[in-house]
Amino acid sequence: MNFSSTPRNPAPYRGRFAPSPTGDLHFGSLLAAVGSWVRARTAGGTWLLRIEDLDPPREVPGAAVRQIEALARFGMPADEPIEYQSQRTGLYRAALARLRADGIAFDCRCSRADLGPGGIHHQCVAADPSRPAAVRVRVPDAEIGFEDLLQGRFAQRLAQDVGDFVVWRVEGWPAYQLAVVVDDAEQGITEVVRGADLLDSTPRQLFLQRALGLPTPDYLHLPLALGADGAKLSKSSHSLPVDPLDPMPALRAALAFLGWPTAPFRELRSPEAALALACLDFDPARLPRVRALPAPDPPA
Ligand code: GLU
Repeated sequence: MNFSSTPRNPAPYRGRFAPSPTGDLHFGSLLAAVGSWVRARTAGGTWLLRIEDLDPPREVPGAAVRQIEALARFGMPADEPIEYQSQRTGLYRAALARLRADGIAFDCRCSRADLGPGGIHHQCVAADPSRPAAVRVRVPDAEIGFEDLLQGRFAQRLAQDVGDFVVWRVEGWPAYQLAVVVDDAEQGITEVVRGADLLDSTPRQLFLQRALGLPTPDYLHLPLALGADGAKLSKSSHSLPVDPLDPMPALRAALAFLGWPTAPFRELRSPEAALALACLDFDPARLPRVRALPAPDPPA
């Protein structure tokens, strides 16, 4: 897809990178960071960093700090104070209260076993009414779609494809889908640039934005770095770590993966210089829609 380098939304550009602190920065997350950073810079906009620390059991102690330090070493410090989702639960509670008041959210005690294969929820069938409740939202049987800036049109029928989905987890904290929608709106994000693994979360987010009366940003889903076995890197045991103490090899590989020519970056020794050049030579038409293998690190 060939899209304009001028953002669609006329408001002052605000982009973000929103890693979960489940481990150190890896190649897949570096792609999302670089893609969103260059897009924000070339639009003359602001780039925010939000730590999505809403899932304590999956968090690795110290990972958030190491990710933040790694981003700085890769030449991408945040433009505004970093936000932590764990400190914003009041906002998510208010959104939940509104969904409840509007009759969209409901308590659900269904277990995975109750829902059966596929786990799609259409109505409560809980076998044990004394289980603690999660909160789900009732989804419409209608198509919800959008025009992704890179991937083109993407649509789902939530009732068939996803079912009523969880917005507040049984463990007592907000689900990603609710928190991300509240935060993108509250932080005034105009365009979301992230990995294509989240393409199929986007219709759920559009649904929640409409239900909560929030604006919908533009979306650009970058190609995923797939391992040789086809597994998404961050999910794979072969997730390639990046070395913040020697950032250039991974940064060159990330830029090559995202479509920049490799030769001009070979001689550059600092991430700041490489990112500045990447901005000067940013051509959205070169961004690949899919990419099977991470590009090999060009010789230094
Ligand atoms: N925290 C999510 C992740 O690390 C990304 C959320 C987003 O960009 O919307 O996969």
